[in-house]
Amino acid sequence: MSEKKIVTADQIKKAMAAVKAQRPAYEELLGFYEKLFLAQEDTKGHIDIEPIQVPKDLLSIKLKERLPLINRADFAVDTKASEALLRKICQLAAKANEALAEAGSKVMDALHKGRLEASVLFSKILSEDDTYFDEVAQELEIDRNILVFFAYTSITPSVCLCAEQLATYLDKDTPWNKGYCPICGSLPDLSIFRGEGDRSLICSFCSYEWQALRIYCPFCDNMDQKTLHYFFSEEEKNYRVDVCDKCHKYIKTVDTRKMDHPVYHFVEQISTLHLDMLAKEQGLESGIPLCLQT
Ligand SMILES: [Zn+2]
Ligand SMILES: [Zn+2]
Repeated sequence: MSEKKIVTADQIKKAMAAVKAQRPAYEELLGFYEKLFLAQEDTKGHIDIEPIQVPKDLLSIKLKERLPLINRADFAVDTKASEALLRKICQLAAKANEALAEAGSKVMDALHKGRLEASVLFSKILSEDDTYFDEVAQELEIDRNILVFFAYTSITPSVCLCAEQLATYLDKDTPWNKGYCPICGSLPDLSIFRGEGDRSLICSFCSYEWQALRIYCPFCDNMDQKTLHYFFSEEEKNYRVDVCDKCHKYIKTVDTRKMDHPVYHFVEQISTLHLDMLAKEQGLESGIPLCLQT
């Protein structure tokens, strides 16, 4: 990447302050997310995981066949650090909206009484075990999506660090140019313009950022200019929604060349929910279901 991704607490605070000033309606929601993102970044400093090894022969097949390096289930998670973060997130949720507060308190209680095992919760989010989340949410009488949200946001620091480590295996000289993440195979949830207008996509699961074609739908590989377009609001020309007429899906794009605040992908995702609403009004579907609580 031509520009270094931001990771410091100070930069998250700056990005948050800029977005709050632009969009006061988001202030309350962003208050919760700011604390969450700072807790996640802080957790990164305490993570202890072994590097994931990709054997040489397997690596050459993966690179040649354009296959992702690992499956979601293969990510290494520091259970101790993630559980501490889960507890912190439950505490932060207590000061957020009613649904989050209630779920946070029930999850804390379940952890305390041994009705919920954090390590199992983390392995199930990696293996995408929908039945587990349905059952546990029902048992604890909480919203299933909030449980998924808690689980995912708790393992995010481990997952992002694994992705950074695994990225060293990738062939930097050959652009990936695919719609799925070269690290874990997940679909992107944000598109970014940087530098000379180079486009990259950000993985919805591991946050890895990879180079992509400028006129391209990552969800159906459409490259036909006539069926790809975008819309944006006059008041915020640094954001746009890229739409594909073939699969009727969209992805939000952030143009960093028109931004005066640091770009932190999670902040951009949460502060552009109005664009998701606009897209939905037009009958469009997000390329991937958004794992966010509002
Ligand atoms: Zn990924
Ligand atoms: Zn498409």
